[in-house]
Amino acid sequence: MSCSVQDHAETRLLIQNPEYKILNSQLLRSFFNIFIPLRCPGCGDVLPHDGSSLCLSCLLNLPYTDYASRPGNAVEKMFWGRVPIEAACSILHFTRHSPVQSILHHIKYHGDRASAINMGRLMGEILEKHAPYSLIDGIVPLPLYRKREKERGYNQSALLAEGISEVMSVPVIRGLLVRTGNTNTQTKKNRQQRWENVKNAFCMAGDPDLGIRRILLVDDVVTTGATLEAAASVLLRETGFRICISTLAYAHR
Ligand SMILES: [Zn+2]
Repeated sequence: MSCSVQDHAETRLLIQNPEYKILNSQLLRSFFNIFIPLRCPGCGDVLPHDGSSLCLSCLLNLPYTDYASRPGNAVEKMFWGRVPIEAACSILHFTRHSPVQSILHHIKYHGDRASAINMGRLMGEILEKHAPYSLIDGIVPLPLYRKREKERGYNQSALLAEGISEVMSVPVIRGLLVRTGNTNTQTKKNRQQRWENVKNAFCMAGDPDLGIRRILLVDDVVTTGATLEAAASVLLRETGFRICISTLAYAHR
C-alpha cells in the first residue's frame, strides 16, 4: 500500500522534530552499543551502557591541575607582561601516551564530538566554583581556520564551549572572532616563532557591543600561549571585555 502525500508530510515533520532526533540518536546509540560496544576515549576499555563518556578508572584518575583556584599558576604566568587578561587556567595536565592525550586525539581526529562536549561540562563544573571564571557572561571559543573546520566538520573548542555553557548557563558567542589566515603547524616552533606565526591570525567579525563584560576564551590545549595571546589581544583592542582564559589541557614544555 502506498503512502499518501499527507503521510509523507507527517513523517517529514516528525523527523525534523528535535525531540525525535534526540530519541532517535539515543536509540541508535543503544542499538549499536549491543553489537559495537562504545569504548572509553581515554583507555579504550568498553564503556558501561549508562551513557558514560569516560570509564570510571579514567574519570577518577584524570590529572587535575587545580589551577582554577590558584592565581599566578603556570598557565596564567605565560600571559604576564604580554596581554592583560584577568585570569587563566588549564583543567588537566597533558602528558604523552596518557588518557588525556588519547581523549584529545579522539576529540580532534576521530570526530568524537560527544567527548568534547563532555569534557567541556567537566571544565564548567570546575570553573563555576572559582572567581573570576564564575563571573563570566559570555564564552568565546578559539576559532579554527575555516578550511580546517570544514575538513574536520566542527571546531573542537566550540564543542568544549558548548559543554561549559550547559553547566554554567552562559551563552557561547559565535562568529565574534575569526581566523584570517592558514597558519603553519606550531608543533616544532618556539614561543617567538609561534608568535610570529599567529600574531595576525585573528580579526573581529561580529558586533562587540553585546552588553557583555567578562568573557571566557576557550581552547583545547595550551603550550606556549601564543595563539591565545593573539586572540585575546584582538578582543581587548576591539572590545571592552575583561578576559579570562581556560583550556582543557596544559602541555608542559
Ligand atoms: Zn578509560
